[in-house]
Amino acid sequence: MATNVKVINMALEGTLLPPKEGLCQQCATDHDPALPHNQQSMFWQYWFYRSVNGARWPTWDDAMAHCTPEMQEKWKTALAEVLAKQAKEKP
Ligand SMILES: [Zn+2]
Repeated sequence: MATNVKVINMALEGTLLPPKEGLCQQCATDHDPALPHNQQSMFWQYWFYRSVNGARWPTWDDAMAHCTPEMQEKWKTALAEVLAKQAKEKP
């Protein structure tokens, strides 16, 4: 039986509904433009992945790349504190 099924890469060719008006159009989160994108947002993950033509998924460094160096340092410090706290909580 012949099949005419087109296989697509959903991450590159799939379509998400656009973020709600008023939200960041890259991460679909309500955040100050001076702050990083929501690294854990599916919209952000897909937006970034497509922006690099599927070369890689974003990191926190990518999410804060548009921020000032001072803001980036604050976020890196805060993220390091969260990771340290999580490491202590693991049995
Ligand atoms: Zn954003």
